[in-house]
This record gives sequence, structure tokens and C-alpha cells, in this order.
Amino acid sequence: MEIAIIAHDGKKAEMVQFLNEHADFFHQEHISLVSTGTTGKKVKRAGFEVLRLLSGPLGGDAQIAARVAEGKCDMVLFFRDPLEKHPHEPDVLMLLRICDVHDVPLASNPATATLLINAVK
Ligand code: PGA
Repeated sequence: MEIAIIAHDGKKAEMVQFLNEHADFFHQEHISLVSTGTTGKKVKRAGFEVLRLLSGPLGGDAQIAARVAEGKCDMVLFFRDPLEKHPHEPDVLMLLRICDVHDVPLASNPATATLLINAVK
């Protein structure tokens, strides 16, 4: 099962905390993580294996959307920061749309991400 994890800058600390809280789940062999560039760096530093794509503003969200469209990615955990402006907002909206097009579970905040992970467990 491939799970994408992305966090805007204001949410990266919460994202790492979330990973650590569910470390047993994310360390399982059948779970693979994919992230945008800077998020991926933090994920790696926290001790998790992850496939790092481009940074979000450089196209990383679009790369994850492509994986969803191609059926490679099974779930998207997107820790969005609604209080900041993002130059790549069109890519972010595109990713959300592609998840809905392909009926792929999508969490846009830690509370929903926790519900999704608990459901998979
Ligand atoms: P980042 O991108 O992981 O490279 O910071 C995330 C985003 O802003 O979409």
C-alpha cells in the first residue's frame, strides 16, 4: 500500500508528530511512503523510509497527483496550512481533484489522517 504524505511548512512539525504516533503502522513492510521534497526530508530524518519527489512548489504535488491517477498511490495524507498563501495552490487543488476523480482516500488535516490510519489498521 502506497501512502503519500505531504505537509505545508506550517504543518511539518505536526506531520512528524503524527508519523511518530503511528510509527508501528508506518514501519510495516507492506506500507510505502511517498512525499514531496521537503516533507520527505523530515520524514527521513524521523527515521522512516520514503520516496522523495520534487518539492511542492516545484511540482511535487503534481507528481503525487500523477501517481494517484496511475493507480500507484492508495491514500493521500495532506497536512495543509489554511492560514498561509501558497504559490502552487493550483497544483494543490489539482491533487485534491484527482483524489476525488479516482476515489482515493484523502485527509487534509491530522484528525482525518488519524481516522484513516485507524481504519486501515
Ligand atoms: P514540500 O512541499 O514538502 O517540498 O515542502 C509540500 C507542499 O508545499 O505542497
